[in-house]
Amino acid sequence: MAQGLRAYLDNSATTKVAEEVLQAMWPYFSERWGNPSSAHSLGRDAAEAIEKARAQAAAMIQSEPREIVFTSGGTEGINAVFHSALSTQPGKNHIVMTAVEHHAALRCAQSLERRGIAITHISVNADGRLDLDQLADAIQPHTALVSVMTANNETGVLFPVAEVGAICAARGVPFHTDAVQAAGKLPLNVAQTGVTFLTISAHKFHGPKGAGAIFIRRFSKFEPYICGGGQEMGRRSGTEDVPAIVGLGAATVLAEQGHGEMNGRVRKLRDDLERQILSTIEGVSVNGDQELRLPNITNIAFDGVDSRALLPMLDRDGIFASTGAACAAGAMQPSHVLVAMGRSIVQARSCLRFSLSHFNTDEDIALLLDVLPKAVRKLRQHCAAQA
Ligand code: PLP
Repeated sequence: MAQGLRAYLDNSATTKVAEEVLQAMWPYFSERWGNPSSAHSLGRDAAEAIEKARAQAAAMIQSEPREIVFTSGGTEGINAVFHSALSTQPGKNHIVMTAVEHHAALRCAQSLERRGIAITHISVNADGRLDLDQLADAIQPHTALVSVMTANNETGVLFPVAEVGAICAARGVPFHTDAVQAAGKLPLNVAQTGVTFLTISAHKFHGPKGAGAIFIRRFSKFEPYICGGGQEMGRRSGTEDVPAIVGLGAATVLAEQGHGEMNGRVRKLRDDLERQILSTIEGVSVNGDQELRLPNITNIAFDGVDSRALLPMLDRDGIFASTGAACAAGAMQPSHVLVAMGRSIVQARSCLRFSLSHFNTDEDIALLLDVLPKAVRKLRQHCAAQA
């Protein structure tokens, strides 16, 4: 790849692994390679490293360490929760979720639907906000699970997790929140939100890919999705990926330390980026509630522009952005989130997501503002010439 100026503004897809995380992981690839189940000191060393990471992950969400189960990431965590909720509650065959969940949840639900499970999708308004009355009305005596993400991965819009938790508690229904995007951007507190299950993924907050965790509230029923050697207290089998788990733990510590900067410097950088795009390019608007959203994401509509053409132009000039969810971007499908917010297919295709991290600087924003207006102008001229 050419190494000119570059700006990585796709941190909701994945983040760079932090140096401190790499340093923490490295010994578990080299001199500390034991299997945590082995009954010798090298094995015990690895098992201790996992318990340290469990305590670190628990501290990030204010849970007890024994309520944390390590997984291979967000997708596995979500699938495990959905399957467990159904298998531990025979006779309950209904799931309530929002229409804007990540594909990891939506497609898991789709496959359950093919096996006879009823799914209710709760809609959102034009700002991406949830209708809580609709959610409460959707819960039935046979509802096995309510799943509502903490923050949307395309717009950053936050959902009222504590309110949903209260509704679910009153109705005696387990509640799962996908906190994959929120972790590392906001303080999370499972004691305050009343969630039964919560999922996180390390690669979204400067940890390694392929490492995640599920919070399972103490005394909640849970049936393992992956069975075998009984690791993770029988809740997730398979020899543990010790370096990845250690990396997750180290990343949670950094995330906690970084909340101030995330909500200060990074938020200001996002707000500057947004303000300057809105003031220098005509026919642009921001998608989603602008108050209740993550500090690092903006999703912007460029009237008359096809993001499928804009994205590669930015890429050629060193700007890495996205149209939304990584898998949807690969397939170039219009965003189901923006369509659920009432945008037409053409409008949904005119949007780009810029997502920031601690590694972004004023120089990244300056590069974007140098490149983006020219690219948008060029595409609009091209469209006008073809009309
Ligand atoms: N949930 C949300 C909100 C996400 O943004 C993602 C990844 O983009 C996932 C789940 C899936 O997580 P993972 O990539 O760890 O499987």
